[in-house]
Amino acid sequence: MTLHAAYDPDNIFAKILRGDMPSVKVFEDDVALAFMDVFPQTEGHTLVIPKGVQSRNFLDMPADFLGSYMLRVQRVAKAVEWGLKPDGLRVMQFNGAAAGQTVYHLHFHILPIWEGKEMGRHGAGTMAKPEELAPLAEKIRAAI
Ligand code: 5GP
Repeated sequence: MTLHAAYDPDNIFAKILRGDMPSVKVFEDDVALAFMDVFPQTEGHTLVIPKGVQSRNFLDMPADFLGSYMLRVQRVAKAVEWGLKPDGLRVMQFNGAAAGQTVYHLHFHILPIWEGKEMGRHGAGTMAKPEELAPLAEKIRAAI
């Protein structure tokens, strides 16, 4: 049962938050960290995770933290739009393995979408190199 289980402090995103795992960051403050998805479904696929909470998913996020976190999700989504100029944006979030969740620290996906460009399948992408992600992150950072 992955929907309601104990938070694992050694999940990948917890390691990224602690600096134990590298990531290509686009935004960080005391509430949230945003970084490039290393298996991007579209060019510019960005993740926004909350800091200071042990939330596996949207359901167990303390209500008091939700508003400030969602403001960061919107801020990063706007920066992805301004920085990369896609035709559309998908904001996605999965809860539990049955719904497609693979990393159990709450995160929102921000996916820029271009007309006519196919989007990769969730959890089936190839690993991007840091040097491919860095220029995209730079454009997003510049728009925040
Ligand atoms: P979920 O399947 O839980 O909704 O999304 C997890 C996301 O994290 C996936 O899109 C996957 O590509 C991404 N991901 C998995 N491992 C890593 C990692 O080590 N670094 C980064 N930056 N993204 C990761």
